[in-house]
Amino acid sequence: MRTWWPDGAKHGAAKARPEVGDIIGHDFKPWRVMEVRDSPLREGESTWHKPYMLHLRPAHLDTWRTAMDEDIHGRVVGMRWPILGEHYPVCVKCGDLTPCREIVATETAARSAENATRFETAGVCPACEEVVTHRQQSVTWQENVVAILGPAVTFHLRNKCFWGAYEYEQKWSREYPDRPLRFHCGGDLVNHGDGTYECSREGDCPGPTARHRLWSICSDCCVPRPRHCEPGPNATNRIQPQLLHPQESSDA
Ligand SMILES: [Zn+2]
Ligand SMILES: [Zn+2]
Ligand SMILES: [Zn+2]
Ligand SMILES: [Zn+2]
Ligand SMILES: [Zn+2]
Repeated sequence: MRTWWPDGAKHGAAKARPEVGDIIGHDFKPWRVMEVRDSPLREGESTWHKPYMLHLRPAHLDTWRTAMDEDIHGRVVGMRWPILGEHYPVCVKCGDLTPCREIVATETAARSAENATRFETAGVCPACEEVVTHRQQSVTWQENVVAILGPAVTFHLRNKCFWGAYEYEQKWSREYPDRPLRFHCGGDLVNHGDGTYECSREGDCPGPTARHRLWSICSDCCVPRPRHCEPGPNATNRIQPQLLHPQESSDA
């Protein structure tokens, strides 16, 4: 989700450390800065930003009032604060700074609906929104985890659509954690010069094109040595090539 930014604040006028008297937007409300003071680094903390303590009071309240039950205090490390003028736009319906919570929620829902529509047509790749033809290599998940009650999800198996498929699989695996992955390995891979490779996850490795933690070239077992540490898409696993999951067609 994008970070919320009040309409009444200019991006160029943002401050990393506001000054006493500034009005800042925070959590949909305007706050007056009452106090700013340095805060020492905590044990083990390392940051480029100088931490500080911030004492805030709702902006509509009298600055000199003594009751402080609505004030908030917090330690800040690395922020960009929206600075408001003395007159700032608020929503007449709810009193929040605009865009208010309700507007943000509506926009967010609209965006995710738009995303979900990409997953509603069987046989259309959600990454490029093109039809997947029988001649193209593709990968299909029977379970649609984006569009509720939607059809099976098919992505092209090609560079252009790789990240879409990768992200879909990550999302899918959160609902089906026991199923093996096709696009993510996470192991350390060694590429050989004879069209084979080895992976630290051995037989569990989903394949040469899956994301790995590390790629390297074998040290001195192959002549000629492989030129790249990333194996080609047809390289075979030395340990034991596995059947790929999920169902995929490759009649190209
Ligand atoms: Zn005004
Ligand atoms: Zn509102
Ligand atoms: Zn595609
Ligand atoms: Zn080798
Ligand atoms: Zn692997």
